[in-house]
Amino acid sequence: MKELNHDSKDTQTEGTKPWIKPAIVTVRGGLLNKFGGKLEAAWMDTIDNVPIATLLEQYGAPLFVVSEQRLRGNIQRIKRAFCTRYPSVVFGWSYKTNYLGAVSNIFHQEGSWAEVVSEFEYQKARSLGVPGPNILFNGPGKKPETLRQAVREGARIHIDHLDELYTLETITEELDTQLDVALRLNFDTGFTEPWSRFGFNVESGQAMDAAWRIAASEYLNLTGLHSHIGTFVTEPRAYTQQVRIMCNFMNEVESRTDCRIDYLDIGGGFASMNSLQGIYLPMEQVIPSIEQYAEAICDVLLELTHEREARGLKRPTLILETGRALVDDAEYLISTVIANKRLPDGKRAVVVDAGVSQLFTAFWYNHRVTPTRLLQGRPEETVIYGPLCMNIDVMRNNIMLPPVNVGDALVFSPVGAYNNTQWMQFIEYRPNVVLIDEAQNVSVIRQAENLEVVTSQECLPTHLAEPYPQGTPENPFSGDRSGRKP
Ligand SMILES: *Cc1c(COP(=O)(O)O)cnc(C)c1O
Repeated sequence: MKELNHDSKDTQTEGTKPWIKPAIVTVRGGLLNKFGGKLEAAWMDTIDNVPIATLLEQYGAPLFVVSEQRLRGNIQRIKRAFCTRYPSVVFGWSYKTNYLGAVSNIFHQEGSWAEVVSEFEYQKARSLGVPGPNILFNGPGKKPETLRQAVREGARIHIDHLDELYTLETITEELDTQLDVALRLNFDTGFTEPWSRFGFNVESGQAMDAAWRIAASEYLNLTGLHSHIGTFVTEPRAYTQQVRIMCNFMNEVESRTDCRIDYLDIGGGFASMNSLQGIYLPMEQVIPSIEQYAEAICDVLLELTHEREARGLKRPTLILETGRALVDDAEYLISTVIANKRLPDGKRAVVVDAGVSQLFTAFWYNHRVTPTRLLQGRPEETVIYGPLCMNIDVMRNNIMLPPVNVGDALVFSPVGAYNNTQWMQFIEYRPNVVLIDEAQNVSVIRQAENLEVVTSQECLPTHLAEPYPQGTPENPFSGDRSGRKP
């Protein structure tokens, strides 16, 4: 332990040296972490060649920045990885991962369908022009009205439970229409915690019972099987096992009923290059590449569907609903430093203008934090707080950061997955989101909120419509000021 040497450069003004309460901090030697990895000392002052300073000047801080080039690069790479390994592949863009219209339309332009899980997401996909048959409709809470619309528009409905199956039987009977449907399955891969709350369980026979039920229906045809085994799945073998179980189930259904399966939808869940809290290895060692996932899936799928061709059947189309792995690294959150603080235990704190209400994923990731200039000075263990008046507003715990000044920008990344959907308007307005296109033009794709936007849905009942009481309210602090400064 030694007494902390405050770097007085930041706070010193001509002639005076402000007093700062001394504190004791642990000396941490060396600049490598215990795995020998480099600390986050790098800096960046542009995103896709656009200066960050210019972005902040024009669009304010905090600011979300999406890279169109990265989005297209990601979807093209995953398509190449799967389409070179399997003959029939479809991608469905997972709306809940990031349903900004501009982001969704980039994926749609690249050929992705829409994967939706609610009335809102269904309507959003339709409003963006996605035809019904190119919508994969998942989720445990589909409303009867939305199901009716989806049936009429030919969407691919992935049934989650028996009550939904009954509702679909009623709707198709009323409309006197035939409907192709898929069953959502759950099972134990041995590599992931089973998400047994979604769909029908395979091991218990529940899923086969549902298949029988559909086979007996006058109006429903079982043509697809779906499962989504988890999110941020870092073990490719989980997918190999998933494909095995789904192929076995497909064969069982086809041999015991007259159903013919056209597609296997294996959901999403591929991990992105983000640091989960509690994992200390470098992410490059933990996160498989897209090609490794593709190999783990396509090799076994090719093998297990080979004999179908001999029986004159087509191989099932493979559908993927990849979310976070496609979008996470294509978005940045630029924040600026509001204040430096010293906590009573000696730890250094920095307050920035973006909080967890905007960066929801700060609760489980250690996002990379990159300054926009070379920071001089000794890095020190720092906690980064957001601007919310809430104790939980921690943007980054335990990051080694050299001294920063008020007004410095700090870039959080990757932030593209689940933030522009799970963020909330809480205390602060949500900021602008801009897109940098492939010609490096910048456009706003979601405007910052203001008072009007945030209050637009509120209504004041007449007895509460009175403005703030007029006249001078009694001031408890008025009166005798003797003994005080004039
Ligand atoms: C959320 C979700 C996805 C996308 O998951 P990621 O982990 O972001 O890839 C895909 N399919 C379904 C059914 C989902 O609920």
